Amino acid sequence: MNVQIEIGTHCNFKCFYCAGRDMPQHYMSMASFEAILDRLPPGRHRISLQGEGEPTTHPHFWTMVTLLRVRGTIPYTITNGSVIDPQRAAREFPKIGVSLDTIDPLEAVRIGRYKLEQVMSTIQALVAAYGDPGRVIVHTVDYGQEMAPLAAWLADQGITKHYPQPLQSKDDYAYRYPGQALVHSGECLYRCRYVESPLMLYYDIQGVEMPCCYIKDGAKFESTDHIRRSLGAGRIPHCCSGCRELYTD
Ligand code: SF4
Ligand code: SF4
Repeated sequence: MNVQIEIGTHCNFKCFYCAGRDMPQHYMSMASFEAILDRLPPGRHRISLQGEGEPTTHPHFWTMVTLLRVRGTIPYTITNGSVIDPQRAAREFPKIGVSLDTIDPLEAVRIGRYKLEQVMSTIQALVAAYGDPGRVIVHTVDYGQEMAPLAAWLADQGITKHYPQPLQSKDDYAYRYPGQALVHSGECLYRCRYVESPLMLYYDIQGVEMPCCYIKDGAKFESTDHIRRSLGAGRIPHCCSGCRELYTD
């Protein structure tokens, strides 16, 4: 099972699309983290430390990673690459994700992604430390920026796992970019693969278990069963409003 745990909402970047910038700023305690691990169903899980904050800024980040390894899970994280030690990361993670939206320094600052030079050298250092660019995965939010220079730079590094994803159309995020064209159209089918056959377990900063990582206003979330029942009755629950999963396009 793919599991994600949001261990913090603090970040040293200010990406314009990041819901975490408006969320209460916390770090998850070790006790809460261990309680989540204790609650997991049996199985060899791939556990990603990620959410609406930069995981590597957590003061106990490496302790958490060690704990994941000790418990026999496969650790993963998506980092903004600004503070992580590449050599240590290559020793501790079988694969690692780095977020990078542009290689244009001015554009990076404009969208709130600072330290671009540092991030790019971290990616190069990760490739060198792993000795295998296939173990470095780059995640990009596609907000309409020019993608070709980024793709060309990644190809130069030998990185083939590049996953652009469109701006999230959910209400939880979309209020941050009014007027932006969003991929969210077609007919609402009132169906969601995340609740029909569980694809992941997501634990938010409060330790609340959710069926996906897209619900940012925990106050609107009742339960996975509630989502299932609402969709079955042809209603979109508040916590899912605007989610592209529900639409044909
Ligand atoms: S780097 Fe990630 S957590 Fe930080 S502001 Fe950007 S999207 Fe949010
Ligand atoms: S927010 Fe989207 S992905 Fe998550 S349960 Fe609701 S419809 Fe599914």
